[in-house]
Amino acid sequence: MAQTKDMSQNSLMKSLFFGELREDLLFPYPKMAKETSETVSMVLDSIDKFAKEHVHSEKWDDEGKMPREVVSMAAELGLMGLGVPEELGGLGFKQIAYARVFQMLSTVDASLAVTLGAHQSIGYKAALLFGSDEQKKRWLPKLASGSWVACYCLTEPGSGSDAASIKTKATLSADGKHYILTGNKLWITNGGIADFMTVFAKTEVKDPKTGEMSEKVTCFGLEMPSQGVTVGPPEHKLGIRASWTNAIHFDQVRVPVENVIGGVGQGFKVAMGVLNHGRMGLAAGSVGASKKLIADSITHCNERVQFKKKIGEFGMVKEKIARMMSNSYAAESVVYMTTSLIDRGDVDYSLESAAAKVFATEMLWEVVDETIQIWAGLGYMKEYPFERAMRDARINRIFEGTNEVLRAFVALSGMQGPGQELAGLADAIKHPLKGLGIVSEFAVRNVRQRVFGQTITQAHPALKKQAAMIEEFVVEFAAQVQVLIRRHGREIHLMQFAQKRLAEIAIDLYAMMCTLSRVTSQIQARGVEACEYEIALAANFFNRAGRRIKTHFSTMDRNDDELMKYIAEKAYELGKAPFDIMSDA
Ligand SMILES: Cc1cc2nc3c(=O)[nH]c(=O)nc-3n(C[C@H](O)[C@H](O)[C@H](O)COP(=O)(O)OP(=O)(O)OC[C@H]3O[C@@H](n4cnc5c(N)ncnc54)[C@H](O)[C@@H]3O)c2cc1C
Repeated sequence: MAQTKDMSQNSLMKSLFFGELREDLLFPYPKMAKETSETVSMVLDSIDKFAKEHVHSEKWDDEGKMPREVVSMAAELGLMGLGVPEELGGLGFKQIAYARVFQMLSTVDASLAVTLGAHQSIGYKAALLFGSDEQKKRWLPKLASGSWVACYCLTEPGSGSDAASIKTKATLSADGKHYILTGNKLWITNGGIADFMTVFAKTEVKDPKTGEMSEKVTCFGLEMPSQGVTVGPPEHKLGIRASWTNAIHFDQVRVPVENVIGGVGQGFKVAMGVLNHGRMGLAAGSVGASKKLIADSITHCNERVQFKKKIGEFGMVKEKIARMMSNSYAAESVVYMTTSLIDRGDVDYSLESAAAKVFATEMLWEVVDETIQIWAGLGYMKEYPFERAMRDARINRIFEGTNEVLRAFVALSGMQGPGQELAGLADAIKHPLKGLGIVSEFAVRNVRQRVFGQTITQAHPALKKQAAMIEEFVVEFAAQVQVLIRRHGREIHLMQFAQKRLAEIAIDLYAMMCTLSRVTSQIQARGVEACEYEIALAANFFNRAGRRIKTHFSTMDRNDDELMKYIAEKAYELGKAPFDIMSDA
């Protein structure tokens, strides 16, 4: 139990599942150091100049490719080694600065942002986070300078979300000097231009205790060219069409044993560690793209006249703009809070980075949809950039963990701690988990008491109502978590309707907390009057998120889950939507 508690104390979001509010992690809202801010400003200026001179998004999208030299030009600006330490040739940016650059890159061109992101957010991130000093010195200078491009090879034809089920094999050679890699990878961004591949494969690993052999994932750094690697033609895609996406075939490829990253059999941990870190690039990019779209929407609201009025004067259009503004403000607050948690280096940020990815990418999808609605017929035309923006934005909800899988991850990972605590209580008085009865009632009461004692003390008084909303919801949330665990025990792993509700609440709560912290810091710095607009944005976001949360609470017990399961399962049996007015009785 003590161990579980310790775990919760290292994560803002995991603590919510215990009913704990971690003010110490939440306040003050992060601020970019002046020196960093100056360097980032210079990088942003150089990106702006580069974009004006060399980026031709419409042409690249039409042709489904961009010139390879553009990647080299971006490299010359330092854009391929943002997070690599300066002594290894990079800019040494922390996540907060890295995210700010990606926020801008996504406004320049989505394909280029994905190319640069796949290179450093995931392509060489395993070497950066888990590599030995020798590996870092050998690889990172070339990768940071952009003389090498990297890719991340996890997905396979039979293994997408279920990354642990990969089939690519790595067998140790007879002389013990190489691993021999064989298998197929699919949809690998930068596959067609990669000089360095981070490849995940299964290896035979001996259990040190039992001596038994089992297959475990191992991560390898593969330098190109390598004999036996075949890269497939570029895939034709819906969006990010100018980025390179290729299948890669490995046939008896020899990788030196020195190229194992993070230890034999540790590859799953490495793969997930990379994604937890890398997802912030996507989240920040989504914020950048949405802010640009909002600006374009506002332009149209102010210019387009119908019924002798600017369309921005219509209530239904105002509602869209207000919703987009407050959602993007909340998403930006989430992104920079999460980067600061990563930069601290002493907390578990896995749930927060998953939440940031889900929240920001869903927000962008809504923004791009509403932008097209505001631009209407013009928005639908290829002549304008919005249909491309929509196609480009769609991938974000799919890669680096689909938003469904990430929601399940948030719910299940969050419940792990309280689940163990409850199991610990049950063990203590010899009750099985499912029949906790009196023990879990004790635990629920315990949560209520624990949280009722807690109030948010550091929020600005102007945000008293918002702070109170969080306090109230956290109590209810933790109680609901405990009730679910008590009722369903391990079966909760199979209950995705409930998981989705829990994840949505946890993600909204996290977004509320980040927004509260940010507006508080702003008020403290500039005063209430000067922050009138931020306060309004926060109030609107809180009210809408609060209504969603209340709906989720109220549908925990009384819902359509069984009805919807029946409809879906029956649909699988029917194989189609078979209804037709002509055959209606
Ligand atoms: C353009 C592009 C670039 C890519 N780049 C890379 C790359 O560089 N490197 C790389 O390794 N991969 C890459 N991918 C692969 C990408 O990460 C996968 O597409 C993604 O992980 C989902 O896998 P899948 O497409 O096989 O979907 P599946 O896993 O088959 O999922 C299908 C559907 O089922 C849902 N689903 C699956 N499991 C669950 C579950 N447990 N609970 C609830 N719902 C579930 C999913 O959410 C989804 O809606 C790329 C893909 C694309 C399209």
